[in-house]
Amino acid sequence: MLPARIIAEKRDGHELSKEQIGQFVRGYATGAIPDYQMAAFAMAVFLNGMTEAETTAVTQAMLDSGARLKWPEDEHQRVDKHSTGGIGDKVSIPLTPLLAACGLQVPMLSGRGLGPTGGTLDKLESIPGFRTDLSLDEITRITRRTGCVITGASQELVPADRRLYALRDVTATVPSIPLITASIMSKKLAESLDALVLDVKFGSGAFMKTRQDAERLARSLVSTGCRMGVPTTALLTNMNQPLGQMCGNAVEIEESLLILRGESPADVRELTLRLAGELLTLTGHCATLREAIVHARERLDSGEALRAFEAMVAAQSGDLSVERPVAPAADVAADESGVVVEIDVQGLGYAIIAMGGGRNSMSDTIDHSVGLQMLVEVGDVVERGQPLMQQFSKEPGRHDEALRQCITLAESAEPLSLIVVRITGDDL
Ligand code: URA
Repeated sequence: MLPARIIAEKRDGHELSKEQIGQFVRGYATGAIPDYQMAAFAMAVFLNGMTEAETTAVTQAMLDSGARLKWPEDEHQRVDKHSTGGIGDKVSIPLTPLLAACGLQVPMLSGRGLGPTGGTLDKLESIPGFRTDLSLDEITRITRRTGCVITGASQELVPADRRLYALRDVTATVPSIPLITASIMSKKLAESLDALVLDVKFGSGAFMKTRQDAERLARSLVSTGCRMGVPTTALLTNMNQPLGQMCGNAVEIEESLLILRGESPADVRELTLRLAGELLTLTGHCATLREAIVHARERLDSGEALRAFEAMVAAQSGDLSVERPVAPAADVAADESGVVVEIDVQGLGYAIIAMGGGRNSMSDTIDHSVGLQMLVEVGDVVERGQPLMQQFSKEPGRHDEALRQCITLAESAEPLSLIVVRITGDDL
């Protein structure tokens, strides 16, 4: 069928067949279909949405556009986690070795920060020498040897997504649930997984601002994973305050090490253990979620997860014994008394970019040494003059006011729940 005919069918709200979608995405991947036709197709999808079957067909066709990780037929199960991103979300860094310590293998392909949310690769690159550009062969070799890697997606994996994402960015079609689903799931499924868990965040520091939108995305991701034969569960988590205390790059590595030593803030430990528990249950390693969390907690508290992290860092040429510089610390104090009712988490992310710790465009270089340590949470009572946070900055006076403005004080507020909904394949 002519590409224009397929675009017209979608424009008029008809459901496309698997064959039509396969033909269109394949044509785009090979260059036979130009950007302008893909842009029209993406807009038709943005306006009319897609059924679960169509979304699965787009995901499959994108996955087929590139290589996949290949694993031997052995007793190991490979798993991964994807987070839609948030401020202070360093969970991948302790979770990956924790899963390895629990006997699962984790070939995690991760990304860089763009805009207010940070990126796992940027955080890891604050460890001197740490390589995030592993080849497919290195990914499989290191995963099999140490149980885990965290690296960037190589050019061979899902090339169609790279081109389509750039096109969506300039045609206002990024916020489309089926296209986001296909983009995320094709990259994760290229790892050839046995199970996947998703941390879909909502709130002021998240890609999805409302809980309703996050839940729609979570359902779409779980449905697509399950339809493609990979047991998938999603947690909906609150990003109306940063996760843990540290936000930045080098400082998030310090907090990740605290998690691995059992000394971290409670929220980030809870989420790390819960995501590990979900994967241990999905793979049948543990019979119940409760048993799985206990199992993961034992591996964390015994130091086995920390040792797996050290092995992964060494295998990726990182050196944890070399100092990771952190910019000078200065308090940001409350200028009145009250209860923390709201945190502008996105504002904190933009303040970190202004300090040099994040990117507005992919070509920006970042300063790993800057960041924040949050000292209050929603629901906390603060006195005038009390520090709300510490900034690690090379020019502290410049950011004080912007940071202070991110915290709203009033009369009363309830603490926030972190994990609000769990969506499994059985819930759909
Ligand atoms: N993250 C992705 O990987 N893809 C999208 O489309 C949106 C967020």
